[in-house]
This record gives sequence, structure tokens and C-alpha cells, in this order.
Amino acid sequence: MQYVLPNLQFSYAALEPWIDSLTMKVHHNGHHKAYVDKLNKTLADHPKWQLPIDVLISQIDRVPKEIRADVKNNAGGHANHTLFWTILTPKSQQLASGNLTAAIASNFGSFEAFREQFSEAALDHFSNGWVWLAVDANRRMIIHTTKDHDTPISEGLQPLLVLDIWEHAYYLKHQNRRAEYLFNFWHVLNWDEIEKRWDQIKTWGHTNREWQI
Ligand code: MN
Repeated sequence: MQYVLPNLQFSYAALEPWIDSLTMKVHHNGHHKAYVDKLNKTLADHPKWQLPIDVLISQIDRVPKEIRADVKNNAGGHANHTLFWTILTPKSQQLASGNLTAAIASNFGSFEAFREQFSEAALDHFSNGWVWLAVDANRRMIIHTTKDHDTPISEGLQPLLVLDIWEHAYYLKHQNRRAEYLFNFWHVLNWDEIEKRWDQIKTWGHTNREWQI
């Protein structure tokens, strides 16, 4: 099986002025495409490991040692970016919707408190990585960070939303000013999609197979 770069549900320019067109194009058709291409190349001679991406990243420790690092980096890069694109939208409501609002408030105290904690994690994280709102085995929401292209799936967590804090996600426009990128991120969040993920996790229970991308 071949992994495929997913199409975005909007144009590269659609997230302007919050995320610029050139960054979106380089990020999707440059960085993400390179992860997909490299993953296909790495697994070309290992058909047994050409698994659905969520299954593959949940079994990284069993992948043959000689290809494990490449698979981990590129499968993680592919999976994380695929999820990231789905939780962005040009038509953001900027606030959590439906029953997700109450769930966030009950986990963090308030939506504002959640935003503050998430922002702090994003600003404090050293080097390349990702910041997540994830759900643990007890269906509690937690804020979590991973380095490189590591995924919380490997730690038994289910992701609800994610922010890419690799410099390639913001450097063209904001250079070293990650706080500006973070401020803009809150304007393009797809809360309907995030709420759907929350509903699925509540309905389906807690297994890796829930994470469909
Ligand atoms: Mn990225």
C-alpha cells in the first residue's frame, strides 16, 4: 500500500491573514509531502509493515530495527500533519462548541483557563514538536507535548486537537516569534471537527483504532 498526501479542505490562501499562503504551501506540499514520500520509500521492501497509519504508529516498537527510526519520524510526520490539517478551518467560530465546551470547562476550570495552559505549553516547549489536547484512558482531557514527530497515541492517549510548533510551521512569517503564531492559531481552529472527535471517543471507547485520519 502507498501512503498518500491528503488534500486540504481549503486553499493555501484560505487561512489568511492568520496563516499565510506561502507557509501553508511549503508546509503541506513541501514538508508533509516529503514525509509521505520518505515513508513510502522506507517501507517499499517491507510490505508487511505497510499498515494503516494509526496502526503503524501504535506499533513502532515492533518495526524492524534497521528501519524503525525512519518509520517513526516519517509515519509520525505524516499522521500528525494529517490530523493538524483537519482541525484548521477558514470558518472558525473561535470557541469550543456544543458539549465540548462543558467538557473543557469541567477539565480545566474554564475555556480561558484551557487556552492559557495550552498556550503556556506551546511557548515553553523547547525545540521541534507538537502540543496536544488529548484524552487519557479515564477520558480526562490533558495538555501534552511531544518532541520531533512523536505521537501521544504511543502513550495510550487520544488526540483531540494539535498544534505544530516546528519552526517550519511559522518561521517564514513570524521568524522566532512563536507567540504571534500561537495568537493566530486560535483564529483558525475547527471546533466542529474537534467536537466530532470528542463525541467519537466518548462513543467508541478507548482504542487505537479510533484514531481515524
Ligand atoms: Mn509541520
